[in-house]
Amino acid sequence: MRIDRTAWFKGGGFLQCEPEETPRSGPYRLILLGPPGVGKGTQAQMLSDALGACHLSTGDLFRAAMCQTEPSPALRSALNAMRRGELVSDDLVVTMVRERAGCLRCRGGFLLDGFPRTVAQAEALDAVLADLGVAIDAAMSYELPLDEIVDRMGGRRTCSDCKAVYHATANPPRVPDICDRCQGRLFQREDDRPEPVRVRMQAYEESTKPLVEYYEREGKLQTIPATGTPAEVLGRSLHALGVGRTTGRIRNGYRSAVGQGVTG
Ligand code: AMP
Repeated sequence: MRIDRTAWFKGGGFLQCEPEETPRSGPYRLILLGPPGVGKGTQAQMLSDALGACHLSTGDLFRAAMCQTEPSPALRSALNAMRRGELVSDDLVVTMVRERAGCLRCRGGFLLDGFPRTVAQAEALDAVLADLGVAIDAAMSYELPLDEIVDRMGGRRTCSDCKAVYHATANPPRVPDICDRCQGRLFQREDDRPEPVRVRMQAYEESTKPLVEYYEREGKLQTIPATGTPAEVLGRSLHALGVGRTTGRIRNGYRSAVGQGVTG
């Protein structure tokens, strides 16, 4: 199933991309946590293919906004913060997500990648979800040693069109610098260069790591080792969600028969 992310990128109640049917196994509503470079984007793509849920990345949203000819002053300062590897203000991120609340109600489910990133954002998200009457199934926290993270970020390449993520050596495209999915050109993100990477790691330690405890307290946390190939990490993620068993169980939640052909 090809997933359309128009509403996420356009915002403002653009709902035409809602799938006609709820995925057989879902909908799944997940938050992906973990330091920059841990492979969340890659897992989000693979989980999206496996579960039929839409990949909603706030980082992709800001990168798309960078291409606007006349960004607002607030957006321009956010983009400058992003280039330096700093976090964008909670107010702006939460406003952008609220404008896209329809995506959180989507019958296809969602995979939030890069949001929330602070406890204030997590609380704002809880309030939005409560208003919509939906709840998340799990917060997946991906973990990896620091030296592997640095290597992954240095080799990461992103498609300028569909935002698919590759790695120069571990997951290269079939044709160098060209996306397998849409033939767009691949590029290295400005914030994957050494100095912004250092700033991003610091922002993660200070602001985002506390979210692991936040979701643990809510009984939603699933910790996933992110070592090995993307397929191995996907296997662990699906196993944690109970996907592929006749009946799947998520801690604090129960899910009926799924059958994605993936055994846990
Ligand atoms: P990502 O693609 O998730 O690594 O995000 C890239 C950059 O976008 C981050 O380093 C931040 O500057 C900005 N950004 C994305 N999501 C958020 C968020 N939830 N809160 C603050 N800044 C964000």
